[in-house]
Amino acid sequence: MRIRFYNARILTMKENEDIFTGELHTQDNRITYVGKSEDAPEGDFLREIDCKGNVIMPGFKNCHTHSGMTAFRSLADDLNLQDWLNNEIFPREAKMSGEDCNILTKLAILEYLTSGVTSIQDMYLTPETIADACVEMGMRCELVSGLNKFGPTLDVLERRYNELNGKNPLIGFKMGVHAEYTCDKELLQNVSKLIHKYESPLYVHMSETKTEVDECIGRYGMTPVAFFDSLGLFDFGGVIYHGVWTTDEDMEIMLKRNIGVVTNPASNLKLASGIAPIDKYLKKGITVGIGTDGPSSNNALDMFREMYLVTALAKVREMNPLAVPAPEVLKMATVNGAILQEHTDTDTLAKGKLADIIMLDMNMPNMQPILNIPNNIVYSGCKSNVKMTMIDGVILYEDGRFAGVDVEEIYSEASAVMEKLK
Ligand SMILES: [Zn+2]
Repeated sequence: MRIRFYNARILTMKENEDIFTGELHTQDNRITYVGKSEDAPEGDFLREIDCKGNVIMPGFKNCHTHSGMTAFRSLADDLNLQDWLNNEIFPREAKMSGEDCNILTKLAILEYLTSGVTSIQDMYLTPETIADACVEMGMRCELVSGLNKFGPTLDVLERRYNELNGKNPLIGFKMGVHAEYTCDKELLQNVSKLIHKYESPLYVHMSETKTEVDECIGRYGMTPVAFFDSLGLFDFGGVIYHGVWTTDEDMEIMLKRNIGVVTNPASNLKLASGIAPIDKYLKKGITVGIGTDGPSSNNALDMFREMYLVTALAKVREMNPLAVPAPEVLKMATVNGAILQEHTDTDTLAKGKLADIIMLDMNMPNMQPILNIPNNIVYSGCKSNVKMTMIDGVILYEDGRFAGVDVEEIYSEASAVMEKLK
């Protein structure tokens, strides 16, 4: 299947490449041409889409989420992290089945598509049924195990790692643990053995709150980053989610071990966890991506809101309006996200890359005048500017409509699950 997008403003996200007017072709799940119209190859296209000057760019990578938590949106708000987790979330999650998780993930995927998200990194309860939901809906997904002392077993983690990686081109599976405070030392030592067996990076919630860091220092005499490093858990790199309360020494370890950060600013604000030192990470050369976190701690799955918060909060934290400018934020949401998800074939628009592409509507009041497109996207853009979302060469969302999906059925099934878990 060949698709041609023409009359487009093309933002490739390649380093030092300016936005230009031209066209982009896809064939099956790959980009086959990006460039000026006069140089474009001819051919038979299944569809030719006049972009009318709208922007074509790589889709956003949501690097940290718990999609199945759509069940808990607006159910347990205005609580601190530990009360929220222990009293509201964990008891309800104990009642959630794999089928429930599948339905709730589908609801989340609808929201991702409206926000221009073309891949997610999802840590939640039943990776198999989350994977099924993503394959059915066409969403690219890196699953991450959320292992902790309540489950699953290490054997299950290893089996999932071997079974889910390679099961479908849209799906991957990463080794992860939920957090230091939900694992004991022996469990983490055993995870470290698995990490070394497969030479795998590790993904974990870390240094999200000051309490978490203080308690870890109380238990082990080290910050969570230093403690995990002492167990060899970062020997093959990895990613920490949040990284709000890291120290200078932590950052040195992160640089040495190639540990990236996924920042989740809306969730950090709502749970009053703090403001992550994004400017400092970037200046040190640490790779930073952006996540929404789950729809219970955020509560939206909206990358535009996250992008705005990343830059606005960095400016206030540093008391410097020059901190983390819009092009840097766009890079985090696309190129850096692809690096952290280990999907560098989705980072930019170029021949041979996977066709994970979005179109943003510039013919709307909030995008006028068109003086600086990256600034428009980050500072005044919003999800209603998403005109199209294509994943793996398939247009899944276009002009407010979802292709081949019975939206009402998903709403109805998700409501029934929510009623059960309330
Ligand atoms: Zn999280």
